[in-house]
Amino acid sequence: MPELPEVETVARQLAPRIAEQRVRRLVVLDSLLRRGPRPRLAGRRVVEVGRSGKQVLIGFSPRAGSRDPMWLLVHLRMTGRLLYVEGEGRGPREHLRARIDLERGVLLFVDTRRLGTLSWLRSREAAEPRAVDPLSPAFTPQRLAELANGSRQALKPWLLRQDRLVGLGNIYASEIAHAAELSPFRRVGSLMEPEIRRLHRATRRVLRRAIEHCGTTFSDFQDARGIDGTYQRFLRVYERAERPCPRCSAPVERRIQQQRSTFYCPACQR
Ligand SMILES: [Zn+2]
Repeated sequence: MPELPEVETVARQLAPRIAEQRVRRLVVLDSLLRRGPRPRLAGRRVVEVGRSGKQVLIGFSPRAGSRDPMWLLVHLRMTGRLLYVEGEGRGPREHLRARIDLERGVLLFVDTRRLGTLSWLRSREAAEPRAVDPLSPAFTPQRLAELANGSRQALKPWLLRQDRLVGLGNIYASEIAHAAELSPFRRVGSLMEPEIRRLHRATRRVLRRAIEHCGTTFSDFQDARGIDGTYQRFLRVYERAERPCPRCSAPVERRIQQQRSTFYCPACQR
């Protein structure tokens, strides 16, 4: 499942390739993606490519003679991929769910398991996540302390909630707790100020490094060029049970926490 760094990677790679291109047509091939009103996309220009939480955000200009801009949110879920192919669109045909024909190429939405979604929105505000994005300026140690205040939940599942911080999934939640030297089982409301600061710094650092390496590839994630991410080489605890902790050499442990695997070092995460 792509997390924030993978989605950011896709958005950063798509942006210079599709920005400013005019849409020739939208073709939705999968009936699951046809629910709701059909957007009239032809003639609009791509004016923005970014990320909203765990979704890719694409903004389109108003059509000629109208004042109705449009935004598309693409949720990749498990196996969704956005691929841009320059020129007369070849690209993969298999599992192709939708495509947007542009002036100089084609943007393909490919999804083996068909869990991904396309949402069409009339306003930029409607596309914003309600929770705090950990890479946004709004994410400060003070804000994190406010969000954590009083919570009786354990750290790792708390990081996975999408109504406090948005974009973290199972891989990065384990990595962030390790980078912050905090036990994934710590009650979030019990974190002291220096620990909140460590957690804040670790969250930013882990996400930024993952983005530098184009995300993590385990099974399905590929970026907008169809290339695997490389951050899996830098993971310090995730999927490394019984191997030595890179910080203190104690063996990394795997425990099930709310039906999900948690990887951590019992020696140096307190
Ligand atoms: Zn350790």
